[in-house]
Amino acid sequence: MTDAPLRLYNSLTRQLEEFHPVHPGEARVYTCGPTVYNYPHIGNMRAYVFADVLGRVLEWKGYKLTHVINITDVGHLTDDADAGEDKLEKMAAQQRQSIWDVARHYTDAFKADVRALNIREPSQWTVATDYVPQMIAFAQSIADKHCYLIDSGLYFDVSTVADYGRLARANTDEGEGRIEPVAGKRNAADFAIWRRTPPGETRQMEWDSPWGRGAPGWHLECSVMSGEVLGFPFDIHTGGIDHREIHHPNEIAQNQAHCCTDGLDVAENSGARIWMHNNFLVDRTGKMSKSSGEFLRLQLLIDRGYHPLAYRLMCLQAHYRSELEFSWEGLHAALTRLKRMVMAVERLKDKADPNVLENVQIVIPDQAARELFNDLNTPRALGHLDAMLAKLDHPNTKLEAVGKFDSMLGLDLLNLTRADLRIRPEAAQITEAEIEAALARRREARAKKDFATSDAIRDELTAKGVEVMDGDPLAWEWKLT
Ligand code: AMP
Ligand code: ZN
Repeated sequence: MTDAPLRLYNSLTRQLEEFHPVHPGEARVYTCGPTVYNYPHIGNMRAYVFADVLGRVLEWKGYKLTHVINITDVGHLTDDADAGEDKLEKMAAQQRQSIWDVARHYTDAFKADVRALNIREPSQWTVATDYVPQMIAFAQSIADKHCYLIDSGLYFDVSTVADYGRLARANTDEGEGRIEPVAGKRNAADFAIWRRTPPGETRQMEWDSPWGRGAPGWHLECSVMSGEVLGFPFDIHTGGIDHREIHHPNEIAQNQAHCCTDGLDVAENSGARIWMHNNFLVDRTGKMSKSSGEFLRLQLLIDRGYHPLAYRLMCLQAHYRSELEFSWEGLHAALTRLKRMVMAVERLKDKADPNVLENVQIVIPDQAARELFNDLNTPRALGHLDAMLAKLDHPNTKLEAVGKFDSMLGLDLLNLTRADLRIRPEAAQITEAEIEAALARRREARAKKDFATSDAIRDELTAKGVEVMDGDPLAWEWKLT
C-alpha cells in the first residue's frame, strides 16, 4: 500500500506535521488514562478509540510501538484545576468501600470496555500509586527553582517557565474565575504538585514526603509516568480536548522545569514532541454526565441491543478532531452500516477461492490508507472501504485488502458475523431460540400457503417485541423492537 508520509496535527503548533520519530524506527506514545472512580462514559471511550487507531496506524507504518496508558487511582480532584476533593476518596466514602476496592472495580470495568471496543491493550498500563517514590523524586528535582510551599501543599509557580499555557493558547489569568481560590497561591494558574493532608485529618491514601504527609497532584503523575516509561522526549502524548486547557499545559510546565535549565521554550522540553487531542462526544440529553443517574455507558448501549463495535464505527465516522454528537439514531445507522460491511465480507468469503489467481490491482486500499496517513481521516477512509465492498468481484484480493485495512480500523471485519451483531436487548421478552423456532413454523406454514397461521405467528411475535422483516434488503429476518 501507499508509502505516503504520516502527517499528524500537533496541538502545540496548531499545525499538521510529518511524523519523524525521536528514536529511529520506534514510536512512543502516552495516553492519559481514566480516573477510576466511576464507570467510563462512552465519551471517555472515544479518547481510547482514537489513541488505538493512532497506534494501529503507527504500527502499520512499520514503527515499533510502545504505548502507555495510565490508571489514575489517586490525585484527580473533582475540579481539574486543583480544587475540590479527590474523586476516588469521595466515591469510596459514598460507597463505604476502601479506595483500593473502588479503584480495582472501575479499572476492571474500564478494561472490559477496552476489550469490547477492540481497543488493543497498551504495551504497559501504569498505575499512579505504583509511582509515588518517583513522583517525590521528580518534585524534588524542580522544587527549589519552580515551586513554593503553602499550608495546603507544594505548588508549582507557572511564572518560572517560559511560555506557560502555550498549548492552551490561553491567557494565564483566564482561569481565575472558575478556579476555587487557594490561600497563598501566587498565580491563579499555579497548581499543586503535592497536596498535604490537612492537620487532624487522615486520608485513605497518603504518603510521607519532604513536604509533609499527603498525596501527589494529578498533573505530576502523568509527567512522571510518561517520562519514567518512555523517556523524555518521547513522540506523542494524547488525551481529550479538555486536557489541552489545564492538565497538559501543567504537565508541559513540569517537564520543562525537569528537563532543562535553559531553553525552556524549546518544544523538545515539553516532554513529548507532538500533543494530540480528540474532540468531545457530546450528548444533548445530558446523559454523558456521570452524576446523572443512568449515564451513557457502553453497557447501556449493549443492554439496548447495540454491538459495541457499532459504537466504535460511530466514532470512526467522525474525524477525531471534530465534535461528534451522540444520538440513538446515529448509533442505529452505524450498526446498519456495520451489518452491511459484515455481510459483504461474508459474501466475499463465500466466493473466495485460493486456487483462482486474480491478478488485479485494487487502488481503493491505497487511497484509504492515504486518508489515514493524513491525520487519521477515518471517515474518508471508510468511504473508500464502502466503495470497495459495493461490488463483490475479485474476492481473494478484496478479502486481503479488508484484512490489511481493518488492522488500522479495528472493526474486526474478518471475524465478525451477522449473528454476533444481533444482541439481545436486556428488556427483550423472548429468547433467540424461541424466535427461530417460531420463524421456522411460520416458514412451514407459508410453504403450505397457510397464511392465516403465518400471520398469527407474526402477530404473536409482534406482541413479544419482535418485528418480522420479510424482504429486508439486509436479509435480516427479524429484529427486536
Ligand atoms: P477522565 O477519566 O475524566 O480523566 O477522562 C478520560 C479521558 O476521556 C480523557 O482523555 C478525557 O479528556 C476524555 N474525555 C472526557 N470526556 C469526553 C467526551 N465527552 N468526549 C471525548 N473524550 C472525553
Ligand atoms: Zn494525564
